[in-house]
Amino acid sequence: MRMKAAVTREVGHLAIEEVELAAPKEHEVLVRMCAAGVCHSDLHTLRGELRAVPPLVLGHEGAGIVESVGSGITRCKPGDRVVVNWLPACESCPTCLNGRHNLCERLARTTFQALLIDGTSRLSTVDGLRLKHFLSAATMAEFAVIDESSVVPIPDDVPFEVAAVVGCAVATGVGAVMNTAGARPGQSAAVIGCGGVGLSALLGCKLAGCNPIVAVDVLDSKLDFAKALGADLTINSAASENVAKELRALTGGGPEHAFDSVGAAATIGLAINSVRPGGTATIVGLHAAKQEVQIPAGALVLQNKRLLGSFAGSIRPRVDLPKLLDLYRGGRLPLDGLITKRYPLDDLGRAFADMEAGEVARGVLMLEPRA
Ligand SMILES: [Zn+2]
Ligand SMILES: [Zn+2]
Repeated sequence: MRMKAAVTREVGHLAIEEVELAAPKEHEVLVRMCAAGVCHSDLHTLRGELRAVPPLVLGHEGAGIVESVGSGITRCKPGDRVVVNWLPACESCPTCLNGRHNLCERLARTTFQALLIDGTSRLSTVDGLRLKHFLSAATMAEFAVIDESSVVPIPDDVPFEVAAVVGCAVATGVGAVMNTAGARPGQSAAVIGCGGVGLSALLGCKLAGCNPIVAVDVLDSKLDFAKALGADLTINSAASENVAKELRALTGGGPEHAFDSVGAAATIGLAINSVRPGGTATIVGLHAAKQEVQIPAGALVLQNKRLLGSFAGSIRPRVDLPKLLDLYRGGRLPLDGLITKRYPLDDLGRAFADMEAGEVARGVLMLEPRA
């Protein structure tokens, strides 16, 4: 079938163009996309900074309606509302059996290479160039073919745009707080970087009962989003002479937890330096994914600090995504406030620019396929 999609033919190239999408095969599902979140990982991939390299169709956060199914499908049927899980774990490898579905051994060979889990693709340009599926998802398109392990049903009262962001930013941020760090009520917390993932970590800290919660960012516009979502205190790190010192002053010796959603050398250093002795720095962001970062070894040992990495919130998608959707339905995760701007697919370039300028908490593409 022909459809419109966000195509990256080579590093730095972005076009919304017509592409060919082949029918779903055995254990695959065709989803009519309704919403797709705009994430830094898409922008990193467009720039060639992550493992998946062009040519590919972008997008990994997404939700929509099952249009048709291949053979052997048991988890959903046409008409079902679903969120796309970009961590299609096999649930049978030793790592999955250990409960670490976010680290499934199949992902490195397939999903992170932007292939479907059978190692192939259903996408191509109209001039015959094979396109890959970013994170086995490729949700920035009118339709997506995904494996049934990428399908998680969503309740009727959850908007598609909310489900879309739960699938990545919210799972990553809230999961870092609840699953990876195990934050507890009354513990102080700093959230470094207030994009979609950082703001989700902030919501996770609220959910965990952390107090106080300090939001740190270089842009006042993003600190305003953090305040609106419940940050107790904020620090503009571009205007601060010593952020770690300010954090220590605001939290009586340093926060118990620091969540770094940026993942740059400087913010990783800030996270580990600012937490109090015995505190925990949890690194969530991917900016330095291909860099070496210096760590102050003395602080780790002499101050008994913990430095944790958190990939995709340490989630088991088929267990945790429904839980997060239920927390939203119960009013415990106010995700409507996280989505501050909506765009048509054609405006993806503007959505990326707004994200970089700090003008959105989370932007979402609203997809309306032709009749
Ligand atoms: Zn993402
Ligand atoms: Zn596995």
